[in-house]
Amino acid sequence: MKSEAKKPKISERRRFFTDIAHHTGLGVMGGLLWAGYADKAKSNPLVLRPPAALEEDDFLKTCIKCGLCAEACRNRPQNIDKETGLPMEATLKMAKAQDNVTIGTPFFIPSDVPCYMCDDIPCVPVCPTGSLDIAKVTNPKTKELDVRMMDMGLAVVDQNSCIAFWGIQCDACYRACPLLDEAIKLEYDRNSRTGKHAFLKPVVVMDACTGCGLCEKACVTEKPAIFVLPRDVALGKPGDHYVKGWDKKDQQRVQNRVDVDVTTHDKRSEKKAEDYLNSMDLEY
Ligand code: SF4
Ligand code: SF4
Ligand code: SF4
Repeated sequence: MKSEAKKPKISERRRFFTDIAHHTGLGVMGGLLWAGYADKAKSNPLVLRPPAALEEDDFLKTCIKCGLCAEACRNRPQNIDKETGLPMEATLKMAKAQDNVTIGTPFFIPSDVPCYMCDDIPCVPVCPTGSLDIAKVTNPKTKELDVRMMDMGLAVVDQNSCIAFWGIQCDACYRACPLLDEAIKLEYDRNSRTGKHAFLKPVVVMDACTGCGLCEKACVTEKPAIFVLPRDVALGKPGDHYVKGWDKKDQQRVQNRVDVDVTTHDKRSEKKAEDYLNSMDLEY
């Protein structure tokens, strides 16, 4: 069940922050100094951050490496071994020197442990600095936390190694997705190679995928054929001047634009096409 999103008031936040400072003293000071350093440090462009993380540059400037998000994640029931009662590896880790991620910052690797998209998103409200911004996962209409608004990354399918694209029946990633038929769909296609079978190809829906990585974890290939990348790495950018004529929102985006007829003039424009015929002169 989704719980009410309560954003701590500034004074509560400050008191919370002060409490941490009292408890962890030099650790936090060290974190602040490190945050200043991290501002200049180059971040790993492939790192996946916890839900609702700010843009990477801002995240590195504000995260004080307190580890409260990772602790909240560790305390989730899914991270306790049901048989032994012992804690298992949790989704969020705090980076160590060998991780190739800014040391002390939280991140996750879906093929190790994906994000389980907990309904109450406990890792986010505990962040004392807003590096994990609760507003990013709060539905503006219901004012409740909404896992569909999570934005850790985007799943990408490598069609060369996904066996569903070979014609072998596999829907492991599709079944693993918490947003089945929303974030990932199976697309039917005729297999013209055999003439009598169908392809069932997994297709990720860009706007709905949260980047939780449950699909990556479930993938049956030796190295996952579906994997999560940060959205700015996974996505291209067409440019603002391209408009989707069939998309009302995109139409509204450019409603005040005045069309300008652009004509390019160069040396080639001065000649007609037939001028080039039978001509050895290749200089334009
Ligand atoms: S939402 Fe994901 S990262 Fe946050 S506590 Fe749950 S499993 Fe961990
Ligand atoms: S709770 Fe916030 S400040 Fe603390 S480590 Fe996590 S992201 Fe950084
Ligand atoms: S990362 Fe995979 S499992 Fe998670 S929402 Fe996206 S398609 Fe579904």
